[in-house]
Amino acid sequence: MKTSKEAIQTAAKEFLNFVNRGVSPYHVVEECKSRLLGAGFTELKEADHWDIKPSSKYFVTRNYSTIIAFAVGGGYHPGNGFSMIGAHTDSPCLRVKPRSKKTRMGCLQVGVECYGGGIWNTWFDRDLTIAGRVMVKIEDRLVHQLVHVPRPLLRIPHLAIHLQRDINDSFGPNKENHLVPILATAVQEELETGCASSGDACSAKNTAEKHHAALVQVLCKEIGVQPEALLDFELCLADTQPAVLGGVYEEFIFSPRLDNLHSCYCALQALVESCSSGHTLEKDPNIRMVTLYDNEEVGSESAQGAMSNLTELVLRRLAASPSNLTAFEEAVPRSFMISADMAHALHPNYQEKHEENHRPVFHKGPVIKFNSNQRYATTAVTASILREIAGRVDVPVQDVLVRNDSPCGSTIGPILAARLGIPVLDLGCPQLAMHSIREMCCTSGVLQTTQLFKGFFEHFPAVRNMVTVD
Ligand code: ZN
Repeated sequence: MKTSKEAIQTAAKEFLNFVNRGVSPYHVVEECKSRLLGAGFTELKEADHWDIKPSSKYFVTRNYSTIIAFAVGGGYHPGNGFSMIGAHTDSPCLRVKPRSKKTRMGCLQVGVECYGGGIWNTWFDRDLTIAGRVMVKIEDRLVHQLVHVPRPLLRIPHLAIHLQRDINDSFGPNKENHLVPILATAVQEELETGCASSGDACSAKNTAEKHHAALVQVLCKEIGVQPEALLDFELCLADTQPAVLGGVYEEFIFSPRLDNLHSCYCALQALVESCSSGHTLEKDPNIRMVTLYDNEEVGSESAQGAMSNLTELVLRRLAASPSNLTAFEEAVPRSFMISADMAHALHPNYQEKHEENHRPVFHKGPVIKFNSNQRYATTAVTASILREIAGRVDVPVQDVLVRNDSPCGSTIGPILAARLGIPVLDLGCPQLAMHSIREMCCTSGVLQTTQLFKGFFEHFPAVRNMVTVD
């Protein structure tokens, strides 16, 4: 595909805005929501009755960390298929413990919990801040508020090489003892506030006392409430360094959370674009859907994860028809899901880690993931459908499979395939340094993936009709 560098960079830069705002799963949902509202989608609530109209666009959230957006084709009838793309809103990170106050050796520190399988040594020596959601009591209401402090508040310093000469041979921090960020010194705290930090988190009687006062204050100032109003929170640590284009030709993206905000962005962008171009939605017999789940990094088993009943409940509502009681069952084989999650690009310094005939590289397109042990859900049928679509929209695709002597990742694909019985294909853009605090991919992947996903929404019903296997 001949695409101008300008078009590639424009798409990549818009992704940078998305990932820079998506500092926690809640912020990812917030950003998706604002983009969807801007594109004319209507918000639905799970608890309400839905009155769904053809050629209309909607979205629903659960736990404010999972979001499902869909556009109903003008030709949709109950029993027709769902053209779906799934991805996940969460990334490995450190999270503030429910009682986080720690004071050691004159340092005010914040206890954190490891969320998911991060490369934790990359969290050392980074300028960290906090982002997430806070529950506050305002009069007689329990209010949900997002918070993101834009300045660096926390730091986990390395131990100097002079005190650990073998650091370059092996560095495995103890996740409880060594991953404790510093918030302030006790001396400075006393200077600033006139009183020493006091009390321990164990005997704290309210939420504000479970954390250092300075942390609580900065949070409360950010959202404009008093410390007494704080009920609970879920706060992620995040790098304050924004995602950027990089490399001498600016062909790379250096960024946190590529896994998996890259896929979230491309799926959402493709849905929005597919609904606004060329009136294809009016003629579509299917419902186009993007499902972005929380908790993939910890196994998807939660009320808002891919393993939950959410997807099935939404699909059943959309297929419900008084005149066709088996519409949902009929829709299942007519549907398709692309499970979008990042793939490992060939690492030039570790080429022996990659299977010799399956080495995805930058700029050569999104990667179809195969694993006959069902760590990925791709089948010959789902791969053929995707290749036919990719050919129609002129996007190159690559194949990946891990070595037999290598562990294999997994994702939401097999979970949703098993849960729903819908044919699934696993696919993702190639990246390096997955689960590092700062990952790397190529700029062209954003545009390629968006075009492929848009092509999927526009061409899947016709391509599905070519398939002769049940
Ligand atoms: Zn992922």
